[in-house]
Amino acid sequence: MFSWLARNDSRKREPLTFTTVTERLWKCYNDKLQPLEATYLFSDFHYPPMSAPDFEAKPMVLLMGQYSVGKSSFIRYLLERDFPGMRIGPEPTTDRFVAVMHSENDRVIPGNVLAADPTKQFRSLEKFGNSFLQKFECSATNSPVLERVTLIDTPGVLSGEKQRTARGYDFEGVIEWFAQRSVMIILLFDAHKLDISDEFCRCIGSLKGNEEKIRIVLNKADMVTTQELIRVNGALMWSLGKVLGTPEVARVYVGSFWDRPFQIDDMKNLFEAEQEDLFHDIQELQKQDVTQKVNDLIRRARLAKAHCFLISKLKSQMPSFFWKQSTKEALIKDLKSVYDQVQREAKISQGDFPPLSNFQDQLKAYDFSTFSKLNTHLVTKVDEMMAVDIAEIMKEMSQEQVPNQAITGGAFGTTEDDLTNPFSGDDSISNNDLLLLCGRQQPEQWVFVTRWEELKRDHMASAEYDKQFFALEPKDGKLSSLKAREEMVKSKLPNSVLKKIWSLADVDKDGMLDQNEFAIAMFLINSKQEGHDLPDQLPIELIPSSRPEPNQVDGNDTDRD
Ligand code: CA
Repeated sequence: MFSWLARNDSRKREPLTFTTVTERLWKCYNDKLQPLEATYLFSDFHYPPMSAPDFEAKPMVLLMGQYSVGKSSFIRYLLERDFPGMRIGPEPTTDRFVAVMHSENDRVIPGNVLAADPTKQFRSLEKFGNSFLQKFECSATNSPVLERVTLIDTPGVLSGEKQRTARGYDFEGVIEWFAQRSVMIILLFDAHKLDISDEFCRCIGSLKGNEEKIRIVLNKADMVTTQELIRVNGALMWSLGKVLGTPEVARVYVGSFWDRPFQIDDMKNLFEAEQEDLFHDIQELQKQDVTQKVNDLIRRARLAKAHCFLISKLKSQMPSFFWKQSTKEALIKDLKSVYDQVQREAKISQGDFPPLSNFQDQLKAYDFSTFSKLNTHLVTKVDEMMAVDIAEIMKEMSQEQVPNQAITGGAFGTTEDDLTNPFSGDDSISNNDLLLLCGRQQPEQWVFVTRWEELKRDHMASAEYDKQFFALEPKDGKLSSLKAREEMVKSKLPNSVLKKIWSLADVDKDGMLDQNEFAIAMFLINSKQEGHDLPDQLPIELIPSSRPEPNQVDGNDTDRD
């Protein structure tokens, strides 16, 4: 599965990427920590053994919110496409945990199958039982965004005690499971209808220990006035401050995270700046994820070492023949002094020990004389892993500024964006070949092609775009990006959408729009306003050079049927 299996010389490092770092961490765990864990029954007492998918899994983003805050729309907005099994609407239909993941083919995978799949990171969810697994599924879809990140949609939280018991599984436990493994937790709130139920407060409560991962999105902010928004934001901060119990509450992103025109666009610029910030934050996920995986591995190794010394110490205290049971009972009762002894002898710090009373309870079920003796070789391996291997990875990471494979596609923009795009931020120039644009067609594209051909046949509608074009006083048959931008912004569509429209419409990438390109831009804007999704590539039928010149289209004979 991993390329390192085929590599002999571990000194020769591949350039650091998210994948190479996670592969190396997995190798560290598997070669050096796992043998110690297995010898001292670590998984019986603490966590199940880790497997490759735990390391190679894409960074997860957990999305939480009450009903109808727009969670599914938010995911749809990021992906710019529907995902299988998507449920959008105010009615209580999102009662599931949905892992939105990458796959070549669209499909829905049920929770039972997911939890049994050794190639996925969900195996330890099995402990939440069948009533949970029935409410868990994977929505697999071919979105480039999901090549870098996995999104976890959660059931919309309803207020009321009834739902709690009706669920039949440990809801907060599941939230905690995902929260620990996620690298970002997005809490969505509705600016238009801010009420935070006790139920949701409890859910937020189960995020304890993961506070630094929390980001707040105050969604649907375009539906309220500036004054209302300020008030809502204040109320939200006050409530969250109480629940999270920290004075400095997480970063709040205010905006309208869907791809429809803004209802009140006074603060359009603010919303767009906020969206850019959030996207930037999401782009850093891989880096954070690697850091989190390193930290988790170190924490686990320290606990495993403490555990090994405790278990072998207990073993060494056991008599060979008589009074086994009474010795065991005495050891459990006075476990504190075993902790103290280990702390002194093995230089284990107090913080690495498991909670005393838990460990006392767990030990009751075991025969100490079957425990393994101290094996210093295994301990040395773990020390080596922490002091050498992980330290080396961390050093390389800080030198190379960890590798971030940028998220592209969806709302994160098309890959072929360049500096001529007036809606573009600081995207770097990439060589764009016209041929690239004429690539394979997506299934939905026929909608565009048909609509475009209809439009061309409807001379009135088609002439409307031309009239608009000439009213803007083009120079040498072209509109400057400034003029075109001014016109396109009138659509009130979010910047990210206009950016994509521009990159599709400016076919020759000269940073200006000619008559044809302008028509394409306006056509795409209208299509978007009518609720159609944009194609990732411009269908070949829309590309001006593949069609007769506009002045020739006037004749009926050129119509296609
Ligand atoms: Ca152009």
